Amino acid sequence: MDPIALIRTNCPRCGSFGSIRIVTTPDYEMSVQLPFEVGQCLNCHFIYSSVRPDYKTLFSRFYPDDYLCYGSKQNWFVSMVDKQRMRRQALQRFNLIKKYFPLSKNKVLEVGCATGEFLKVCFQHGNEVHGIEPNNKLSDSLKKSGINVINNTLEEATVKDNSFDLICLFNVFEHLWDPVYSLYKLNSLLKTGGILVLEVPDFDSPWRKIFHHYWFLYHLPRHLSHFTRNQLNELMVEFGFRNEAILKQFRPTVNALSLKYAVQAHFQNKFIKCIFKENNPVILGMAIFFELFSNLFFNSNQMLCIYKKNNNVEIKPSLIEEKEYGIIGAV
Ligand SMILES: [Zn+2]
Repeated sequence: MDPIALIRTNCPRCGSFGSIRIVTTPDYEMSVQLPFEVGQCLNCHFIYSSVRPDYKTLFSRFYPDDYLCYGSKQNWFVSMVDKQRMRRQALQRFNLIKKYFPLSKNKVLEVGCATGEFLKVCFQHGNEVHGIEPNNKLSDSLKKSGINVINNTLEEATVKDNSFDLICLFNVFEHLWDPVYSLYKLNSLLKTGGILVLEVPDFDSPWRKIFHHYWFLYHLPRHLSHFTRNQLNELMVEFGFRNEAILKQFRPTVNALSLKYAVQAHFQNKFIKCIFKENNPVILGMAIFFELFSNLFFNSNQMLCIYKKNNNVEIKPSLIEEKEYGIIGAV
């Protein structure tokens, strides 16, 4: 396998190269032992993944077809259970958004629509649905099921301006190479008064501090931007949006995966590694209990943020630049 070249990027929000390191972690998901880094801009305090693979390497090497967010393909049973979980999640998101926006006879766009479960629910409730999905296999499969999908990234996709009533990004916004340029684009695609929904990890979650660099939602090198509630709200106001609600999400699997990463890093014993898996019912049961308890008093691991578009903003070019970090040996 070819060596992976790491790069150091500047802050996507203000362009400054000055940042302070928050954490360095390897890629626990694919066992890639490289020093991926999250930093905070010294100028505007934006939190971003400052040391990462270059664009081409990131999207060609770190998003295989069996990537966990594309649905499990371990065996037919796990695959079926996972599909049910994704359907339940789609319905839960639909019902939450419906409280803030009348979800019928609208034009809906989901960016990073993956298996399309949310779009299917929207369609069943009388909405016109569109998706943007860069993964070829997922995109082809959605097209076969009759969903209108653009097989591209948000940045590159050609879509008519001011044409959508609702745009959703579930666990996608933090993956975008340039979140600031993407916000210009999202603002331009949405009608004034339309709704933008972002589901992202909450950087203020107490679980981040408890699990430290084993926290699943650092998810380096795929997560490129990291948000606290206040920082996200400030950014969105700058891009013509007004916050309508920030809702805690119930995602117990996140803690089960963080625990698995911590155990795998400290124990070589195969039996122990086998016990501490996210699909072990006992581990998942414990994770559900702790998630229920902590969500009562603290921020959740993930948050569903609902914004209304107030006004158009003029698109500006991306500020992101790259500096060579070094070529690291094959992994
Ligand atoms: Zn900055």
